Amino acid sequence: MPSAAVNLLGMPQTELEALFDTFGERPFRARQVMRWIYGRSVLDPALMTDLSMDLREKLAATAPMNLPVINTVRKSADGTVKWQLDVGQNQAIEMVYIPEPARGTLCVSSQVGCPLNCSFCATGSQGFNRNLTAAEIIGQVLLARQELGTGDNQSPITNVVFMGMGEPLSNFRPVVQATNLLVDDLGLGLSRRRVTVSTAGLVPQIRRLSKLSNVSLAVSLHAADDELRSQLVPINRIHPIAELMEVCWEYARETNAKSITFEYVLLDGINDSVDHARRLARLLVNRPASANLIPFNPFPGSAYRRSPAAVIDRFRQVLVEKGVMTMTRRPRGDDIEAACGQLAGRIHNRVRKPLGTRRSGLEGSSATL
Ligand code: SAH
Repeated sequence: MPSAAVNLLGMPQTELEALFDTFGERPFRARQVMRWIYGRSVLDPALMTDLSMDLREKLAATAPMNLPVINTVRKSADGTVKWQLDVGQNQAIEMVYIPEPARGTLCVSSQVGCPLNCSFCATGSQGFNRNLTAAEIIGQVLLARQELGTGDNQSPITNVVFMGMGEPLSNFRPVVQATNLLVDDLGLGLSRRRVTVSTAGLVPQIRRLSKLSNVSLAVSLHAADDELRSQLVPINRIHPIAELMEVCWEYARETNAKSITFEYVLLDGINDSVDHARRLARLLVNRPASANLIPFNPFPGSAYRRSPAAVIDRFRQVLVEKGVMTMTRRPRGDDIEAACGQLAGRIHNRVRKPLGTRRSGLEGSSATL
C-alpha cells in the first residue's frame, strides 16, 4: 500500500489501473471507481458498494477525495450563478453557470489568477498564484452538478468552457487530463464539441493540444494587427498573429474541427472601427473560423469602456458581409461580476513577474508540460 496520499479525482483511467495494480487489484476496479465518481458523484469510498470492504478501506486511508469548498454563491437576475471557491491557503477561484433555453454552460477556472496580464481583464490585473490540479478542475464540474441538482434526470451541465480564471494552456497537463475526463464515457461523457478550451494564444501548446485532444478551441484575438494586439494581449509579443493563425488552421485540420472560435472583446475607440473589422475579416474569411464578439465588461479600475451597441452591430455587419460567421455574446451575470473578464476570486501571494520578465514567468508555469 503506497504511503503518500493520492487523489483519485482527475486521475486518468490508465493511472487508476496502475494504482489498483499496486493494491493487487484487477484493472476493472478503475472503471468501477470512475463510474462512482463521475457517473454518480460518489466520492466516499465507504459508499462504493461493489468494491470489497478491504479495498474500500484502503481507498479511504490512502485516497481521500475532496471537492473545492464553496465560500459564496451569487445568483444573477438572468439566472447565471457564480460560486467563489476556496482552494486553500486563503486563495479563491470562481466558477460560473450560464443557463440558456437549450443548454447549460459551466465556465471553469484553470489557475488561481493568471500570468498573462491582458490589459482589459480583471483576472490578469490581479496577478498569478498557482496552477489548479486536475482534481480541482474536474472537481468544479462535479461540485456544480451537485449544486444544481439533476432536474429531469438530465445533467444541467451540457457544455464546459475553460473561460474562467486563468490561461488553460499554461496549465497544460492538468487541463488536458480534465478535458479527457469531460469527454470520456467513463467520465462526464460530454461531446467534444461541447468542451471548449479558450486560450490567449500559446502557440506551442495549441500544437501539442492538437496531438492529444480534439476538444473545441477558442482563441482570444481582440485585434488583427500585431501592434495593437501586443498592447492588449502581451503574449502576442512572443507569439505574433501570423504564427497564431497558422497553428489555429493546423489545429482545425488535425482535429477535424468545423471551426475555431475567435473571441474579440470590443473596446470603445480602441479596436472597434470598420477598418478593424475589415482587418479581422481578412484573417478569418474562407477559413474554418467564426468570430465571437464580446461587449467589454467593466470591472473596478478598468481603463476601457464598452463599445456602443450600434458600433458593435456595425462591426458585426462588416464581418458578416465579408462572409465570416459571427455572433455577438450577450453579457450574462454582469450584475454579479460573473461576466467574461470580471472573475477575480481572491489572490494572495501573487508571483506575477513584471512584463520584462514575463517570458521566464511563463516558462515557469509551463515547466510541468
Ligand atoms: N485565458 C483564456 C481564458 C479566459 S478569458 C483566454 O484568454 O482565452 C475568457 C474570455 O473573456 C477571453 O476571450 C477573454 O479575452 C475575455 N475577457 C477578458 N476580460 C474581459 C472583459 N473585461 N470583458 C469582456 N471579455 C473579457
